[in-house]
Amino acid sequence: MTNEPRYPLLALARLRMGIDGAGVTTLVAGAGCPLHCRWCINRKLLKEGAPEQVTAAQLLERVRIDDLYFRASGGGVTFGGGEPLLHAEFLRQFHSLAPDGWKIRLETSLAVQAEQVIAAAEAADEFIVDCKDMNPEIYRRYTGGDRDLMVSNLRRLLDLAGAERILVRVPLIPDYNTEKDQESSAAALKSLGITRFDLFPYSRRDL
Ligand code: SF4
Repeated sequence: MTNEPRYPLLALARLRMGIDGAGVTTLVAGAGCPLHCRWCINRKLLKEGAPEQVTAAQLLERVRIDDLYFRASGGGVTFGGGEPLLHAEFLRQFHSLAPDGWKIRLETSLAVQAEQVIAAAEAADEFIVDCKDMNPEIYRRYTGGDRDLMVSNLRRLLDLAGAERILVRVPLIPDYNTEKDQESSAAALKSLGITRFDLFPYSRRDL
């Protein structure tokens, strides 16, 4: 089917534990993102190899090898950077094909159009939002993007998915923010209704 949505697959990372949500997960790294984060690992990956365009059924066959681990551990498939919400139609299809018992998670910056958030809201069990920093100036310096867009999409996602399905990551970003900024971001997010947080330094991530 020529019109079938396809995902720009950069890499699969299998058997991850406790990094992309609960349980054993396979990380699906995709290409393409509206932001320009200074420490972006995705762009480095993209320089090393071109993405492969896969259908939902093709991707499902590739990740199915870990079916038993997913079911036994409460894990599943996590779509990570680039920006998965740019491919909402693909994600909806993948979610509908995925076996019961798999958790489908989306790691997103929410730097997308409102329509893409709405379209993706039912395409996952959990959203892992990388908010970068809630200070608009730090956000702009680090990502080149607009913090207000992220915040308005976060409010939208809260309405659509509920706080229980949202985990917000608040990174300590070398050369860009401080632990105090991290705490300020967490406080601002709490006031929006966010209840689940992951405060961490970028240096311990090795995606
Ligand atoms: S949001 Fe993620 S994928 Fe996009 S530029 Fe930033 S680090 Fe890279």
